Amino acid sequence: MEPGDGPLTRDSPSPDPVPAGRYAPSPTGPLHVGNLRTAVLAWLFARSTGDAFVLRIDDLDRVASRDEHVRDHIADLAALGIDWDGQAVRQSDRFDRYEAALDHLAADGLLYPCYCTRREVRAAVSAPHGPSPEGAYPGTCRDLTAAERAAREAEGRRPSWRVRARGERVEVVDRLRGRFAGVIDDFVVRRADGAPAYQVAVVVDDHDQGVAEVVRGDDLLDTTPRQVWLARRLGLTVPGYAHVPLVLGPDGQRLAKRHGAVTLGDLRGRGDGPQAILGAMAASLGLADPGMPVGSVRDLLAVFDPDRLPSGAWRFDPATVRDRRAAGV
Ligand SMILES: [Zn+2]
Repeated sequence: MEPGDGPLTRDSPSPDPVPAGRYAPSPTGPLHVGNLRTAVLAWLFARSTGDAFVLRIDDLDRVASRDEHVRDHIADLAALGIDWDGQAVRQSDRFDRYEAALDHLAADGLLYPCYCTRREVRAAVSAPHGPSPEGAYPGTCRDLTAAERAAREAEGRRPSWRVRARGERVEVVDRLRGRFAGVIDDFVVRRADGAPAYQVAVVVDDHDQGVAEVVRGDDLLDTTPRQVWLARRLGLTVPGYAHVPLVLGPDGQRLAKRHGAVTLGDLRGRGDGPQAILGAMAASLGLADPGMPVGSVRDLLAVFDPDRLPSGAWRFDPATVRDRRAAGV
């Protein structure tokens, strides 16, 4: 069955494809070594158990996404030996699926319009007697009367749409991080410009693509209870999760462009090929000796053991990526 064939109803919740791992980059900029290391791990988690592996282009933000980044991402993954099953799926082709999910939530009475501006939400959240959990939307618009809504509409305000989550607590058992619980606030599922929110897209996509385990950066751990809550409300499969520690720069801050040569293109430009970079990643995962190149991610399958991964963050110093054999060391 092709992704997207399954109707999003309670009666037939699962398209039942082969279990898969996935990588889902956003084409809003080049991938850096940290993004690619997460892709390597996601591929290893899936392929080491014989699962399928799928690639998704998270271009929900159609304004910021660029086709040249899509091409570069695909070339970078291929250079490391990462392969995937079927065609890459693009979120921008799947808005009808997200609309079906939003219709489903609306039909269940789980949505309400919120007329707050970002500034108003920030002000409400930072109020001294603000709500708990910290940072949660305080429910300002949850119980507006029809007249109050009409008054805001008359001011020309366009609403975003939030879920009525009733402060439910959701616990996730993450393969790498263990138990993680979150209290679900009334988060936005449709933005004021009409676009579906990322939380909706990711849940629907992972279900449709048969994703059995989501392997991604641990900066997304906080959003996971919301996604699990949504998947349950939509009658969709709740995948397993493995949140991978982020890669840091030499200064201990999250790896970024300012740390120097951090993309495959940058590193190649100064003479370090993908094998040297893959070797550095493999060494950081305890899968190879430091300084030794690795030809392809496939070479790591035999030594990959998800239970023996280092749990800390990796500090990546572009200055230390060198193929010692090539350099004659
Ligand atoms: Zn509001």
